[in-house]
Amino acid sequence: MRRKISILGSTGSIGRQALEVIEKLQDKFEIIALTAGENTKLLNEQIQKFKPKYAFATKTHQIEGAKVASLEEICSNRENDIILVAVSGKIGLKPTITAINNGIDIALANKETLVMAGDIVMPLAKKNGVNIIPVDSEHCAIHQCIKNISQVDSLIITASGGPFLKKSVTDMKNATVEEALAHPRWNMGKKITVDSATLMNKGLEVIEAHHLFNIDYDKIKVIVHPQSIVHSAIEYVDGSVIAQLGLPSMHIPIQYAISYPYRYEGIKSKSFSFSEIARLDFEEPDWNKFKALSLAYEAGKAGGSATVCLNAANEESVFSFLQGKIKLFDIIDNVEYMMSKHNNKQNPDIEEIFDIDSEIRALTKEKISKVLV
Ligand code: NDP
Ligand code: MG
Repeated sequence: MRRKISILGSTGSIGRQALEVIEKLQDKFEIIALTAGENTKLLNEQIQKFKPKYAFATKTHQIEGAKVASLEEICSNRENDIILVAVSGKIGLKPTITAINNGIDIALANKETLVMAGDIVMPLAKKNGVNIIPVDSEHCAIHQCIKNISQVDSLIITASGGPFLKKSVTDMKNATVEEALAHPRWNMGKKITVDSATLMNKGLEVIEAHHLFNIDYDKIKVIVHPQSIVHSAIEYVDGSVIAQLGLPSMHIPIQYAISYPYRYEGIKSKSFSFSEIARLDFEEPDWNKFKALSLAYEAGKAGGSATVCLNAANEESVFSFLQGKIKLFDIIDNVEYMMSKHNNKQNPDIEEIFDIDSEIRALTKEKISKVLV
């Protein structure tokens, strides 16, 4: 029987690659719903090709060839065996909760879901017997290496270091949008690419890992590995280290997450060759240059709404950077400033999380507009 799947964000970088995987595995998957934001043109092409029953886009009247359904409706449709949450931003959170409440497994790409509400989402998934399989390559690697969390000493998350790894702080301060978007290894959406340049992406991943694997922040390490071949590793209490390796392609973790616990040949294009790769380098991150990383640990350890603040201040600042309104380092300065002013609320509920998110976004925008005047 084919596994029934819906993709939230099928027009994005992860969503498009997921459809490439599914195209190769048509005998394994049946698509129930596809959703877009603005890009209805691509969504309609996808509908023609993959024939989902339901679809969503922000301009619903432009959808052709499928019944319109909201993200919430799609996520409460128990026909689904699994939902790939590949939308960007906070809109991923509520539909994910709806799917969990309906007992539907989740392949989770959207980082905000756990960064904003990991303390709510993970216990809820456990209570409902729902699997949350990470798509993010590092967490997918850890998911593949982990056997018994109680025997784990630490998680080792790898970071490519982004385009500024070998650049000076001054180069980074004066970086253009184009330079920040020129990621050496991964081809991703713009927001996450900027986060990879500041290493905020790695910070968000540390928070994601804390929630996914229920492990203390002190036991999560970050190591820079420019080749992006080792996708992450685990050190067990006896000193044994298990790492997951593979060529840097998001097809592999996407396919793993939607197929779990099965593995298929699928989209594999080439065999892995140690001799072709020849060398793997590792170095400690430069914590002074990449302050975002310390801020993320700080927010994670503080818990409560601190990570909501970190995420909202960062996302608004990244959007302003992409519009050419602020410089790359202003992103992190804004995050630090917002965190220093934030009145941390422990155990916020979902509505409080959204309120705090909106408040921080408004304050961040205000700060940016004041600087611009
Ligand atoms: P993209 O920006 O490429 O895609 C985002 C998707 O979300 C698009 O389909 C977009 O639609 C849709 N979307 C955006 N806003 C809305 C909205 N308001 N309503 C409905 N749909 C909306 O992002 P990525 O694919 O790069 O990333 C998706 C998520 O996965 C992010 O949270 C990211 O952090 C995470 N991730 C991504 C990785 C990658 O390699 N790209 C790796 C690991 C995690 P449209 O384009 O039609 O407007
Ligand atoms: Mg990642």
